[in-house]
Amino acid sequence: MQITRAKAFGTCFGVRDAIEAALDPAFAGDLTIVGQLVHNPQTVQRLKEHGVQMVDSLDDEITSKNVMITAHGTAGSVKTELESRGYNVFDASCPLVLRVHTAVRRLVDEGWHPVVFGQSQHVEVRGIVGDLDEFTVIGNEEDIEQLAQRDRIGIVCQTTHRIRDARQLLDRIRERFPELEIQFVDTVCKPTKDRQSAVEELADDLSRSAGLMIVVGGYNSSNTRKLLEVCKEKSVQAHHIENEDQLESHWFSGIDHVGITAGTSTPHEVVDAVHRRIEVLAPS
Ligand code: SF4
Repeated sequence: MQITRAKAFGTCFGVRDAIEAALDPAFAGDLTIVGQLVHNPQTVQRLKEHGVQMVDSLDDEITSKNVMITAHGTAGSVKTELESRGYNVFDASCPLVLRVHTAVRRLVDEGWHPVVFGQSQHVEVRGIVGDLDEFTVIGNEEDIEQLAQRDRIGIVCQTTHRIRDARQLLDRIRERFPELEIQFVDTVCKPTKDRQSAVEELADDLSRSAGLMIVVGGYNSSNTRKLLEVCKEKSVQAHHIENEDQLESHWFSGIDHVGITAGTSTPHEVVDAVHRRIEVLAPS
């Protein structure tokens, strides 16, 4: 049986750099991360073992002196609030997330109504819109109706949005409101695009034989779930797991080719462990 890893998978540089920063021994266990740094249980556990605390928001109690903003970024007002409370604030925002913040600010300055294609409750999106007086978040086609009263809109995307979905939403908006003036800024990050195109390519290969995709990543990771969506669209059987212990031997019965991919917050060592277990469960 053939096992193939997607050409691009797993932890992106933004998440990797933020994890390394949080594990810096200089913090000596005196660090709280506001918002989940990565949607990956193994990494969260590793951080906890290093004494790193995690809170969801400023409403939670913070007992450390040092506070870290995650790779997903946050609103400037949150950072200012933390500083005013006397914490040492370390900003691990990914530069590609900050690029979205800059794009939104420019659109607003130029008089466009800001629109974000993404999930309204995702920490990254809350950070993008957190300092704006008004904005619209569009997660699906039903949300498009919110644009009825607008003349000109400037659109950015959550960095992990599927670019194909973004372009579909854009087409629907143009059809629904042909008079609307639109500026679209493609802010889906390159690591996300690379992982999306790699899983499409691998899913195409798997669909030509008795193929099965194993998608590794946190159950709460939106970009991992998007990798699964690709498999579904291509009618490729897929299982979503968080670690190698969840693999079941009967999945590989009658399978000729297994593909492995992983979301942007899944460490490579987790993928390595999954790969090794598949070799045991389904030897060639
Ligand atoms: S997914 Fe993209 S934007 Fe988000 S942390 Fe990774 S590289 Fe940065």
